Amino acid sequence: MKFEIQDKFFQIILKQLEQNKLSHAYLIELNDFTDVDQFLNLFVKLLLCPNRKLSNQCSDCKICKLVDINHYPDVKIIDADGSFIKKEQLIEVKESFLNQSLYGNKQIYIIKDASKLNLSSGNTMLKFLEEPADNIIAILLAKNRYNVLETILSRCQLYSLEDDRKNVFNSDLYDLIKTLFVKNRAFLNYNQILAIMPNKIEAKNKLSQISKYFFFVINKEESLLSELGELSEEKICQLVLVIEKYINRFEYNLNYKLALDSLIVEINEVI
Ligand SMILES: [Zn+2]
Repeated sequence: MKFEIQDKFFQIILKQLEQNKLSHAYLIELNDFTDVDQFLNLFVKLLLCPNRKLSNQCSDCKICKLVDINHYPDVKIIDADGSFIKKEQLIEVKESFLNQSLYGNKQIYIIKDASKLNLSSGNTMLKFLEEPADNIIAILLAKNRYNVLETILSRCQLYSLEDDRKNVFNSDLYDLIKTLFVKNRAFLNYNQILAIMPNKIEAKNKLSQISKYFFFVINKEESLLSELGELSEEKICQLVLVIEKYINRFEYNLNYKLALDSLIVEINEVI
C-alpha cells in the first residue's frame, strides 16, 4: 500500500523529468506516511540517476551508490537545530552549492520538517524560492501542510502522500460538494452555507476537506464529482489557492461573515 502511494508520486516526477518540467521546490505532505528515509532515498535517486529507474534497481551507477550511503556531496539535509531551523543553516547550504556540482548534476537540499521554519528562516527560505537557481531543487517535508508558512507553501509544488481514499471520500464530502456546488456555480444558498459552516472553525474544517479532495483529484488524476460540472485542471488549482487562502484568513479575520462573503465571490469568479 505504502509503495503504491509513493510510486504514484514518482511516476509524476518521471513525467516531469522527461518533459523537463521539474519544479524548483516540492512540498511533500506526509500525513501518516512513515517510510520517509526510504522515500527520500528513492526520490533523490530518481532526480539524479542517469538511468532514471522508478524502482531502486540501479546498482551500477556511482551516483546511486553514493546516495545510498549518504555520501553524495550535492544532497544536503537540513534538520531543525533545536525547535527551529535557523536561517544560518539554510545560508550555509546555499553557499556550499555555489561551487559547481561535482557531477554536473542537480543539487538538492531537503528540509525534513518545514513546519520548523520560523519567521526568520522562513524569510530566508522564501528568498531562495523566489530566486531559484537552475539546478537546485528543494524538497520540503511536513506532516501537515497547514503547519507550513503560507508564503512558502504557495511557492512549492505540493504533493500529499495520502492515498487513503476513505480519508478523502467520506460521506461528509459528498454532502458538502452537493450543497456547495451546483454545476458551474458555487455556494449559492447562503443560509445552507451558514448551516454547515456556522463559524470559522467549521469553515476551516469543511474547506480543508474540499481542498484535500481537489488535491486528490489533481494528483491522482481522478475524475470530478458531477456536481462540479467540468472544471479544468487550471481552474481546480485556482480554486485550491482561493480556498487555502481563506482557510488561513479565517484564522485571523474577526468578521467571519464578511470573509465568507468575499470567499463566495472569489470562488464564483474562478468558476
Ligand atoms: Zn543510478
